[in-house]
Amino acid sequence: MAFLQYADIILPLSVPRALTYGVPEHLAGEVLPGKRVIVPLGRNKLFSGVVRTVHEHAPSGVEVKAIASVLDDLPVVLESQFRLWEWITEYYLCNPGDVLTSALPASFRLQSETSVSLNPDKDFLDAGLSADALTILEQVKEEDEISLHDLNRLFPEKGMPKLIKSLLEEGWLLVKEEIQERYKPLQEARIRLRDAYRDDAGLETVFLQLEQDKRKSRQLETLLVFLKLRLDQAGTDYVRKSALTAHEQVSGSALQTLIRNGILEEYAAVIDRVPAFSGNVQPVAELSENQQLALQQIQEASLEHPVALLHGVTSSGKTELYIHLIDEQLRAGRQVLYLLPEIALTTQLVQRLQRYFGAAVSVYHSRFNSNERVEVWKQVLHFDQTDQQTPFPRKGQLVLGARSSIFLPFSRLGLVIVDEEHDPSYKQQDPAPRYNGRDAAIVLAAGHGGKVLLGSATPSLESYTNARQGRYGLINLHERFGGIRMPEISVADIADASRKKLMKAHFTPELLDAVRSALAKEEQVILFQNRRGFSSFLECRHCNWIPHCKNCSVTLTYHKQQHQIKCHYCGYAQSVPSACPNCGDHHIEVRGFGTERIEEEIAVFFPDHRIARFDLDTVRTKSSLHRLLHDFSERRIDLLVGTQMVSKGLDFDNVSTVGILDADQMLNFPDFRSFERSFQLMSQVAGRSGRRSKQGKVIIQTRNPGHWVIRAVMNHDYASFYHQDMEERRHFGYPPHCRLVSFTIRHREEALTHDAATRFCTLLRNKFGSRVHGPHIPVVHRVRNQYIRHILLKIEREQKTAGVRETIRSCMREFYQERIYHPVQLFADVDPV
Ligand code: ADP
Ligand code: ZN
Ligand code: ZN
Repeated sequence: MAFLQYADIILPLSVPRALTYGVPEHLAGEVLPGKRVIVPLGRNKLFSGVVRTVHEHAPSGVEVKAIASVLDDLPVVLESQFRLWEWITEYYLCNPGDVLTSALPASFRLQSETSVSLNPDKDFLDAGLSADALTILEQVKEEDEISLHDLNRLFPEKGMPKLIKSLLEEGWLLVKEEIQERYKPLQEARIRLRDAYRDDAGLETVFLQLEQDKRKSRQLETLLVFLKLRLDQAGTDYVRKSALTAHEQVSGSALQTLIRNGILEEYAAVIDRVPAFSGNVQPVAELSENQQLALQQIQEASLEHPVALLHGVTSSGKTELYIHLIDEQLRAGRQVLYLLPEIALTTQLVQRLQRYFGAAVSVYHSRFNSNERVEVWKQVLHFDQTDQQTPFPRKGQLVLGARSSIFLPFSRLGLVIVDEEHDPSYKQQDPAPRYNGRDAAIVLAAGHGGKVLLGSATPSLESYTNARQGRYGLINLHERFGGIRMPEISVADIADASRKKLMKAHFTPELLDAVRSALAKEEQVILFQNRRGFSSFLECRHCNWIPHCKNCSVTLTYHKQQHQIKCHYCGYAQSVPSACPNCGDHHIEVRGFGTERIEEEIAVFFPDHRIARFDLDTVRTKSSLHRLLHDFSERRIDLLVGTQMVSKGLDFDNVSTVGILDADQMLNFPDFRSFERSFQLMSQVAGRSGRRSKQGKVIIQTRNPGHWVIRAVMNHDYASFYHQDMEERRHFGYPPHCRLVSFTIRHREEALTHDAATRFCTLLRNKFGSRVHGPHIPVVHRVRNQYIRHILLKIEREQKTAGVRETIRSCMREFYQERIYHPVQLFADVDPV
């Protein structure tokens, strides 16, 4: 079939390009780039996708299907966003559909759900059907339309799915492939005065009426409560219905009467899900001399460089500087994006920003549900259309978010702040697109002619190198705000203490003393144990048997509280065996240590103090995270044991002492970034101590007290750390001296995985020669029953990367030309972290 117009549609599928559909005549003019449409795919599936382009070129040699319907009145994706999507697709070697899936909130991506309804042409009542069949049909009749999924849930009995199927086959029920839009705005019921009574005169007539009649005293009382509650929330003309009915002096029937008599009215309003701000905003704080100087340098740097790096020690007042820069942008009518690692997005920071920018602060991250994200999306999208006269700052103007907020529909972005720019969680690992939010933010800002400010106390080697070589501006803040000294860091030698038999559990005498003296002064303590991959496991004392996961090549981690051993890669769990399955011995011991063990051990020494744990197991939900942070800041917890989560963005003024339990675990991690990570983690954790009023104290436990990384941490010496680690990287050929692309090959059969990896490696070597390394068998070489191989490609910095990526794509296409490799998973990770 031929059409006058065609549209290229990006679908949420991992296919290499947008698909072309015809624009039927009745939709001409309605199909526009950036709108969502529904299109058929395959035999009888419907999908929603986003229109990329509209054109007149009929694709040759394929049958073109028509767009079924258009979902939006106005585009929800802007041209500038498409350009960012295209850069990500190109640079990170993935598909447009991968980017769409990450970029749009889930409720924007519609779901195809099979619904059924009664066949209007058939009367089932006197057809002699079974009782079960009648029950089902009655139910469908009542619902009008119901999804098979819901129907099956209503009738979970055995045999029912079969019965439903036969009712369908016999034509009693009809299937409708139907699309449901999942986004529903959150509404609340509100009460307000009717128009006629809004002014003083109107209100007086109501009072007169009610006062004259004794029987109306309940109504009068209800009205008075309404007026009082309305007064409490200055500036609004309504009261939430739930607030009104919850009041003890309000009678439900009196309220109904007031509504019936046309004095009050009830209406529904769409509300925001992001915690509301009420009250007055403050002017930004006055900057110290150092901050003032840094601000000036940032402004000067921005004349020459689109990107600047702010290297400021912990607690130097970086956030306060950001606030000044944000203020400046908002007043100029531009939008600002403030990026943070997911876990550092705390209520503390949101409230700090709300103090200055009030309701203009929107928050966007993965702990919000999809509807909440759609709301922020719409605020940002509509910012451009809101009345320019509305007083500053306006909704949609400032977004505080995790990496995925780079995908929001900004129209006038003036500044992106990337705080904690060194943080590895800016990189999306799985699934594609495997993008780095920091680097994509630079491309995003460039598309708007905006600026980027990267901030960190421990910059990544990449960013620092860019700054040193003049590609970015560089601004330093070497002192803590208020002249507070950097924490005093000392080491405690585990080897020495063990030799002298002075270790108590996992604690050196130095650490225990420091904790004891802090607690005695009613100060708070943080103990840091990074247990990634090094948590406790079990071992048979007799034969050294260690339990392993049956799906992955890793040992199972011991979780005492649940009396289970668990896999941290696939979630597999089993109870602790009572005897060794290998030799039958009953002496199974716990080896290594994680946060749970530390929590338990430290409690033995400080039984009268309140101890809590902060890690993935204890803060899975948004509310448990909030509760723990709140309790700690209210000093209901004396000592917090945590993983790297404690290193991020916490600002508690009563923490005086920090203990790092095992520096060696971090330093010995087999990865070229392990020194950088160790330096960052230890410096950041140390920075949690003594922030506001006095110098903090940090104890690092190690068997390597002379290690150069530990020395650099102790001396707060980023520069010497930087130079030495750059030397190591040069020696072994790692970024930032070169660029990396790593490839992963996965399949359930080991032989095929190996064969595929060898084949792809050969294809790469034909083009890149000795720059190709591998295939390697990774330490964790099997996850979820899939075998894994890695290949590493090292590209000189000077090479043009566009050509490299095109060559890689052609190697991948050539690889998949062989049928036997179709079931094998092969993907690239550009700039892995
Ligand atoms: P960073 O982001 O570098 O860790 P912050 O901006 O959080 O540092 O500042 C550290 C502490 O100093 C905070 O408690 C902050 O309120 C305070 N502070 C920083 N700058 C100022 C200022 N100009 N006026 C008042 N207090 C400030
Ligand atoms: Zn054994
Ligand atoms: Zn597993």
